[in-house]
Amino acid sequence: MISEDELLPTPKKTIINIRQPPIPTSEIEFAHVVSEESDNNISQTNNIQSELSSLKTERAEERKKRRERTANYLQQPVEERIKVLSKYFGQVPQMGVPVQLTHDQIVNVLNMESLVDQRALFDYANSITESIYGNKVYFRGIIEFSNVCQKDCKYCGIRKHMKVPRYTMPKEEIIEQAVWAYENHFGSIMLQSGELNTEGRIAMLEEVIREIKKRTGGGGPGEWNKGLGIALGVGELSRESYQRLFNAGAHRYLLRIETSNPELYKKLHPNDSNHVWEERRDCLKTLMDIGYQTGTGVMIMIPGQSVEDLASDLLFFRDIGADMIGMGPYIVQDDTPIGEEWMKLYGHLNEEEKKEYNRKLFRLSLKMTALARILIPEANISATTALQAINPAGREIALNSGANMVMPIITPTKYRVNYQLYQGKPCIDDTKEECKRCLTDRVKWSNKHLMLDEWGDPISYFRKRQMEVPNK
Ligand code: SAH
Repeated sequence: MISEDELLPTPKKTIINIRQPPIPTSEIEFAHVVSEESDNNISQTNNIQSELSSLKTERAEERKKRRERTANYLQQPVEERIKVLSKYFGQVPQMGVPVQLTHDQIVNVLNMESLVDQRALFDYANSITESIYGNKVYFRGIIEFSNVCQKDCKYCGIRKHMKVPRYTMPKEEIIEQAVWAYENHFGSIMLQSGELNTEGRIAMLEEVIREIKKRTGGGGPGEWNKGLGIALGVGELSRESYQRLFNAGAHRYLLRIETSNPELYKKLHPNDSNHVWEERRDCLKTLMDIGYQTGTGVMIMIPGQSVEDLASDLLFFRDIGADMIGMGPYIVQDDTPIGEEWMKLYGHLNEEEKKEYNRKLFRLSLKMTALARILIPEANISATTALQAINPAGREIALNSGANMVMPIITPTKYRVNYQLYQGKPCIDDTKEECKRCLTDRVKWSNKHLMLDEWGDPISYFRKRQMEVPNK
């Protein structure tokens, strides 16, 4: 029997304490350290301890066997291993060559249970990423500059009705973080916040974007492809506002549709004129029309969502022409209506069952990442922070299952506690330096290459417009 955490594309078992990562030189060595520790702990003589000792030895044995089985399986060439996917795809997949899938086929993949088949899926998706982007991974430093929000999304930890101290970083402080990112060789940043569509906010953002461009060697209007790359994630705005921010120098925009099912959208949001699915979708079209590299995404396993919905989400991303995709597991947040619903459904789970729930959620999120790569091969796909909330090596594994992007949080530490979209959000006490170092290590552990000083634009954007793909 194969155990659950087996066969994930985890290049190295990594995380014990990320602040002082042990950085084992090899997986074998790390395994050795772990079993030695257990051996030391169990040298006592009394009965309970000797039982514990045999249990630990058994576990160590089991781990060893598991590692051997995995090693045996991985000895087969990956070209051969991915052939098992034929039964889902209706054709034999070739390394690095994407296939088109129907809604039914996507549902079958999402329901895939065999761990061997799943590993083949992740490796196949990775082969597509590598055929397009090589092993390059790009940083987007994220600055969560304000938690003030006009929206009341029923799942979110910074929704309007949440009792949380509100902040907006002073302009100069936002600019400082951006300049730090530039000086630390990040190619791009992302400015993210709650949603606020006032004139004051737009004017402030315009000014901040212009100043960041100016201080990082960027040009004025028409010269946006110089200096630090700037992405925005500030929600639904008017066409005019989107245009002003684009003219100021932002060139990417991330707006998650949250779900492609308008009926589910209604359940996840208040039923008022401030939360209309069609308007959110139209915002995506407007952003593309203006010329932004546009990203979208959804939450995974939010109450009320079906596997069929998730399959439709992927086709929605493809059909609308998304250049960037950011998806993550839904994670419960207290004092929110959806959080309460989740508690009714799953609150009774014991620790073991909760672990099982998280494993399922993690696997489903990885399948979504892999399928996004297969269906929209040239998009930039994020290994999102929320993945790490449910698996300590979540981002590394995602980087080997279709993702090619990570977003170190560079928000000043003092604000982070008030930008908790969900409970247990990682990196809440960390500094930007720690987030940079941690993610640099994670990329290394993923056997990928971190690209510094480059924008890492999505190739799909240029292809659609018959433009040459720039390096920077
Ligand atoms: N308001 C901005 C961005 C801030 S929230 C916008 O609309 O783009 C960023 C993302 O966090 C949201 O799009 C949502 O998908 C995700 N999010 C919010 N609450 C969450 C939760 N409880 N679990 C997981 N992700 C959540």
